Amino acid sequence: MTLNLHNTYTRQKEAFRPIDPGNVRMYVCGPTVYDDIHIGNARPLVIFDVLARVLRDAYGDGNVTYARNITDVDDKIIERAAENGEEIEALTVRTTENFHAAAAALGCLPPDVEPRATDHIPQMIALIEHLIGKQHAYAEQGHVLFDVPSMPEYGKLSGRNRDEMIAGARVEVAPYKRDPADFVLWKPSADDQPGWDSPWGRGRPGWHLECSAMSEEHLGASFDIHGGGVDLVFPHHENEIAQSLCAHPDDSFARTWVHNGYLMSEGEKMSKSLGNFYTVTDLLVEFPGEALRLALLKTHYRQPLDFTRDGVREARQELNRFYRALALHETGVSDGEAHAVPNDVSDAVYDDLNTPLALSGLHAAADAAFAAETPEDVAAATGALKAAGELLGLLQQDPEVWFQGDGDAAIDALIAERIAARDAKDFARADEIRDQLAADGIVLEDGPGGTTWRREG
Ligand SMILES: [Zn+2]
Repeated sequence: MTLNLHNTYTRQKEAFRPIDPGNVRMYVCGPTVYDDIHIGNARPLVIFDVLARVLRDAYGDGNVTYARNITDVDDKIIERAAENGEEIEALTVRTTENFHAAAAALGCLPPDVEPRATDHIPQMIALIEHLIGKQHAYAEQGHVLFDVPSMPEYGKLSGRNRDEMIAGARVEVAPYKRDPADFVLWKPSADDQPGWDSPWGRGRPGWHLECSAMSEEHLGASFDIHGGGVDLVFPHHENEIAQSLCAHPDDSFARTWVHNGYLMSEGEKMSKSLGNFYTVTDLLVEFPGEALRLALLKTHYRQPLDFTRDGVREARQELNRFYRALALHETGVSDGEAHAVPNDVSDAVYDDLNTPLALSGLHAAADAAFAAETPEDVAAATGALKAAGELLGLLQQDPEVWFQGDGDAAIDALIAERIAARDAKDFARADEIRDQLAADGIVLEDGPGGTTWRREG
C-alpha cells in the first residue's frame, strides 16, 4: 500500500518513497528540557509516534530508524535554572524524566535513537568548521554566524521573502552580523554559563545547529522525513536546511517535511493568564493518558486543533465504548485468523495520516462486535478492533485494567469536579457529570459522608 504524505517543502501530498526501504529514517525535533511539556507539545509527540508506527507497519519493525533529540543546552535552560536557583544539570535531568513519563503515558513508543545535544558538541564544531571552509559562515567577536546571502535558495521551505524572514525571526542588528538575516551557529559563554572549548573560544552551539549535527550523525546527510510542529518551519527548519545543504550540497538532507498544525486550548491561544495552559502532568491527574491521545488524534494533524477538557471527556467515553466491545471477547475463542488492520482504517491512515477517518473505522469494528451473534464473530470483530487500535497506539490495555485502573482515577476526578460544580452552584454541570457517569454504568450515591459510587449490574 502506498503511503501518501503532505510535504511542506513541495506543498503537495506525495507518494512517499524512502531512500532505502531497508532503513527508513525520520528525525523529529524533540523538547528543549527547561519545563514540563504542555498539551501543545504533546501533539507532535503523538502524531509522529503514529507516523513511526505506520512506517514500521509499511516497511517492517526492524527497517525504520526514528530519531528524536533532546535539546539540553539552550538559553531558555540557562535562564530557567537561574530563576529556580537550580543547577542546570538537575533541571535538564528532571525535565527529561518528566518528558519520558508523559510520552509513555500518552502511549508513545520510545524513538530508536534519542540524541542529546551536549553529547554531540564535537560534531557541531566540525559542522561549523565545514561551513566556514565553504564560505557559508564567518566568525566575528567570539560568535560564528551563518551567512544567509551566501545561499540564494534560503527561504524555500517557509516561502517567506527576505523582509518577512527578518521580521519573523525578530532579529536584532548586532555588531557582529554582516546581514540582519544571518543567524548564530556558535556563541560565546560567560564563565557561569555552560560552554565548550572551540576554535572561536569557549562557547555553546545555537539551537538550529544542534539538529543539523544530530540528524547527520544518526541518519546521514540524506534521510527521508523530518517532522515537527508548524511553528518550527521558520526559522528553525529553514535554518537547519541552510546549514545541512550548504555543508553537503550533494546530499538532500530531509526529503519530506511533515508539520502538524497549531493547537489552541479551550478556543484560545494557550496562556498561563487565561487558565487554559495545561501541562500533560496536570491533565494526567484527571484523565487517562489514552484519552488525551485519542483527543489529539480526533483532528487531522495538519488542521488547527482546539483542545478542550470536554473533548477529552468525550474521548474517554469513546474509549469506554471500545473497551466494552473488546471485553465481549471470550478468552480461548478464536475465529482462526491472524488479525490484520481493517482496510478502511489502513487506507485512512496511509492517506496522509487521516486519523479522524481511521477512528470511524474503529467505531465500525466496535459496532460489528456488539452486533456479532457467535463467539467466533465477536473474536473476528474484536481482533480487527485491536489491530486497528495498535496502528494508532490505542486499545492495547486489558479492558479490565482500563475500567478499573485508569477508570477509577477518572471517576474520582469527575466526582471531585461535580462536588466543585455544586459548591459553585453550577448545578447544570453537576447534573451533566452525573448523567455522563450514568451513561458509563456508574451510579453515584450522595450520603452524609460524601459521594460514593458503584458500578451498575
Ligand atoms: Zn530541530
